[in-house]
Amino acid sequence: MKYFIRTYGCQMNERDSEALGAALEKAGFLPGSEEDSDLLLFNTCSVRDAAERKAKGKIGYIRKLKQKNPNLIIGVTGCMAQRLGEELLKELPHLDFVLGTGQMQRLVPLVNEIAADRRRRVETEPSVEVLESMGDHDAAPSWHGQIAITRGCNRFCSYCIVPYVRGREISRTKGSIITEAKELVAKGVKEIMLLGQNVAAYGLNGDTRPPVSGHSPFAELLEEMNEIPGLLRIRFTSPYVSYFNDRLIDALKNCSKVCHNVHLPLQSGSNRILKAMNRQYTAESYLAKVDEIRAAIPDVTFSTDVIVGFPGEEESDFLMTREVMNKVGFEQAYVFKYSPRPGALSALLADSIPDAVKEERNQILLGDLKERVVQKLKSLKGETVEVLLEGVSARNAARWSGRTSTSFVVHFEPDANCCPGTLRKVRITQVNTVSLFGELHPE
Ligand code: SF4
Repeated sequence: MKYFIRTYGCQMNERDSEALGAALEKAGFLPGSEEDSDLLLFNTCSVRDAAERKAKGKIGYIRKLKQKNPNLIIGVTGCMAQRLGEELLKELPHLDFVLGTGQMQRLVPLVNEIAADRRRRVETEPSVEVLESMGDHDAAPSWHGQIAITRGCNRFCSYCIVPYVRGREISRTKGSIITEAKELVAKGVKEIMLLGQNVAAYGLNGDTRPPVSGHSPFAELLEEMNEIPGLLRIRFTSPYVSYFNDRLIDALKNCSKVCHNVHLPLQSGSNRILKAMNRQYTAESYLAKVDEIRAAIPDVTFSTDVIVGFPGEEESDFLMTREVMNKVGFEQAYVFKYSPRPGALSALLADSIPDAVKEERNQILLGDLKERVVQKLKSLKGETVEVLLEGVSARNAARWSGRTSTSFVVHFEPDANCCPGTLRKVRITQVNTVSLFGELHPE
């Protein structure tokens, strides 16, 4: 039997799809296309209404494939599956199953059961066994691999439905993560991205309070990962700022393989809005943490997530966000226009900010970001940086690209020794508004 998985949403979903595909292949399925597969799986996202509408539209459209092939099995998994459950089966009569986020380990048996009796099913009860299913990977991964270390979230930010659709936070054992990392390295992976809704809460066993000073199981995990021979780089996303304590900063400073780029979601620079979002920090404490990290790792770069147009966001609140963003000097930012999600607490508030205002605020922040990045890129001209080679540039087949530890992408003409997943030095010779260009140092 052949399978095809279409993925929507975040890196966690991409990683889940890789694990689901690997589990199917272990069970004898072969990868196919949307047209020739016997199993079509939609791994969905609920973070925004648009993501759900897009997935439902696509699933509706492939009804015609079922008319051609009545044995075709169509399933939905991921956050939308968890959120809507039975409702999806009612809405989409050609759908065979809905598999929740805490039931991934049930995919293969479920598909076999449906193939045998053609009964439609919904399985959305959360279970800790899902942790066991998170370690499967592609048989031949590239130089980059991802490992999900936690599942779910305990923070309950008022705009977010993750705690409801992915459940409470659970962590995998350190041993299983290290084993998985070593297996990936043995297959040629050189850089590993550790994933979790709040990675810095790793190993806190459901404790909803940030770790105390001097204690960070996540820092211990990074230190052990740092010792894996053959692994060149470690990245992670995303840590909640209040969990980023002194112990974790020390680990970042001392672990040579941990990249100097921190994705630290800000969401708003206004304390009033942060409170309404149920974010457990203030603009001042956020800035203090950035200073602390920067003092320990002077070349660190920061990226962030920001929401504009949260209910009740006044112009003055927005200007505070703008100010904090400019003070930090983020090198990358994902700015989202607020949209209410049914089930999240903020959906009870009136979505009071007109779309045009949200768009205007979005454009202002993106404009600031662009200006800052141009200045930052210009400052790198003439410097020699170390990059991990990623392969041929997406935009110019004559060039290769590589990424610095601080997450800047550099393009250059390759030499005969270029190989994805190796570290090389490049001298920056040219800069435009979005990219760095350089000359590769001979080996
Ligand atoms: S930390 Fe907040 S925004 Fe992030 S996943 Fe958890 S509830 Fe959602």
